[in-house]
Amino acid sequence: MTLTVAVVGLGAAGSATAAHLAERGVRVIGFDRFTPPHDQGSSHGRSRIIREAYFEHPLYVPLVQRAYALWDALEQRSRRTLFRRTGGLMMGPADGTVVAGALASAREHRLPYELLDATKVAQRFPAFRIPADHVAVFEPRAGILDPESAIAEQLKVARAAGAELRLGTPVLAWRARPDGGVEIDTAAGTTRADRLVLATGAWTGPMMGELALPLVVERNVVHWFEALRPDDATLARMPVFIHESSPGKAWYGFPDQGEGLKLALHHQGRPTTADSVSRDVAPEEVNAVRSLAKRFMPGMAGTHRSSSVCMYTNTPDDHFLIDHHPSSPDVVVASPCSGHGFKFAPAIGELVADLVMDRTVRFDITPFRIDRLLGR
Ligand SMILES: Cc1cc2nc3c(=O)[nH]c(=O)nc-3n(C[C@H](O)[C@H](O)[C@H](O)COP(=O)(O)OP(=O)(O)OC[C@H]3O[C@@H](n4cnc5c(N)ncnc54)[C@H](O)[C@@H]3O)c2cc1C
Repeated sequence: MTLTVAVVGLGAAGSATAAHLAERGVRVIGFDRFTPPHDQGSSHGRSRIIREAYFEHPLYVPLVQRAYALWDALEQRSRRTLFRRTGGLMMGPADGTVVAGALASAREHRLPYELLDATKVAQRFPAFRIPADHVAVFEPRAGILDPESAIAEQLKVARAAGAELRLGTPVLAWRARPDGGVEIDTAAGTTRADRLVLATGAWTGPMMGELALPLVVERNVVHWFEALRPDDATLARMPVFIHESSPGKAWYGFPDQGEGLKLALHHQGRPTTADSVSRDVAPEEVNAVRSLAKRFMPGMAGTHRSSSVCMYTNTPDDHFLIDHHPSSPDVVVASPCSGHGFKFAPAIGELVADLVMDRTVRFDITPFRIDRLLGR
């Protein structure tokens, strides 16, 4: 009998999961409260960094390597550019989180990298002037993903393989049936499925209501500025970067892809909820990023062009949450965020499909288990 899987949330993780499941012959019914790709969740803003020398933890390296292969396959079949290679600069104090973490991953997984001092950074990449006591790990395979196009293509694959996608359809509630399987309620009625994937991003807390998971939704704002020295801001001359500008505090950015420099703070936003997040951007928020650009990219950032508000969904340890529901084994929750999940989307989709189908998962996902969030 064909397995029926409901996928709730068709953003980065859910669209990938729906595509993998549908391509394996599973009957997929997908739901999204909006019409992805949209700008109301965590996957908009026209660019996401993908990088391999993963400062957060070496355990992510095999997963991102699988994601690179799957992004490449998606690009080939869609005949659309989803990835642009720029190289990546992970910068900061040598013993800081970003540089030391990137080096640890690069060394453990024998990745290609170069360690550059501040002078070399300025010579090779004239957009940047980092302090003399900062260094940079340059990793050649890093680059830019196009999130909206990627989600659109993943949904196209899912649809082409037979997935039924119910867009503009919020799921109001779900429950496990005593005899197995699940029921999903929407305004249009109740749908039954054998399994349920909750890929609801910033809405995951409310969807897992009774468990009271310690997930914090964080409001994050990205900004576009005119590139004043356009020759130094091209994809060939300016890598994507993450810079630990003061201990534990990082900002990041992208070269000019036609809309200006995109710059933002990482993990310094205020807590919010998915339904109440303010989309208004205060001048101080623009100025906070502009003053970092003035110090570390002098003469690069001109007129502020626009800003966009997005959400991180953070776990206390910043690792993902991908696991079966503790009391409903037919339900898998896949909320790979904490501000760094996009790059992994197709690999997450593949491994969530494995979890749902009771197949062996080929990555170590023990750090992503739900037990750790339940104090067990
Ligand atoms: C500003 C910003 C910058 C980032 N930069 C990077 C980066 O450079 N590199 C990187 O790898 N990651 C980055 N991230 C993180 C990454 O974008 C996220 O981890 C990832 O996009 C999250 O995907 P998701 O599928 O969990 O959530 P989303 O893509 O937001 O998908 C969740 C979906 O669930 C739907 N939904 C929710 N509740 C319901 C319901 N009840 N019924 C139906 N549908 C529902 C929503 O409408 C939404 O479409 C960044 C995030 C932000 C906000």
